[in-house]
Amino acid sequence: MYGSGVIKGMLVTGKHFLDTYIEDIRYLGRRSESFATRQSAKAKGVFTVQYPEERLPVPEEFRFIPFLVYEEGPEGQKLDRCTSCGICAKVCPPQCIWIVRSTHPETGRPIPEPTEFFIDVDICMNCGLCAEYCPFDAIKMDHDFELATYERARTNIFDKERLSKPVAYYASIRPQNYGREEAIRAEKEAAKAAKPA
Ligand code: SF4
Ligand code: SF4
Repeated sequence: MYGSGVIKGMLVTGKHFLDTYIEDIRYLGRRSESFATRQSAKAKGVFTVQYPEERLPVPEEFRFIPFLVYEEGPEGQKLDRCTSCGICAKVCPPQCIWIVRSTHPETGRPIPEPTEFFIDVDICMNCGLCAEYCPFDAIKMDHDFELATYERARTNIFDKERLSKPVAYYASIRPQNYGREEAIRAEKEAAKAAKPA
């Protein structure tokens, strides 16, 4: 019959239309709980997340701009994990990392911590290689993707202050990775302690 395809199409559209309202009523007052279902293959009808008022959680392995991890000392001091070894800068494909290594003021000898650490976030391609190769778990990929700015010549070159975040933050965004790394660290320390002096 001529026009049957058009009618079928209209029925599908009508079903989506009705499903949208049925699902809205079903999840009334539980919008954020419904994201997992309504943004999945099980979704019925049309559903739009009202960003930025609402946000979808990002998966643990989501990568955006790298950040530097620091430990907190007993008096709240920031203890850099970074030793300024420069491996991350070497492996970075677009070469957007610059590091200035600290030196002893009297002897001029290098000190294993960075005085300065810059990443040009406009050039960073979020590949995560810096984090993969860092031997000290000192640089990790962040989840924070909301970096819009009105000026980019200066603000998008992140310095050490801007890049540094506490280890507790890292543990909060990547709990499984953090747990795995801490277990390996504890194992190595136990093996070291068990060695005869
Ligand atoms: S972040 Fe890691 S790889 Fe990069 S300089 Fe620091 S310790 Fe080395
Ligand atoms: S994520 Fe990739 S591009 Fe960005 S700083 Fe690290 S290595 Fe360079």
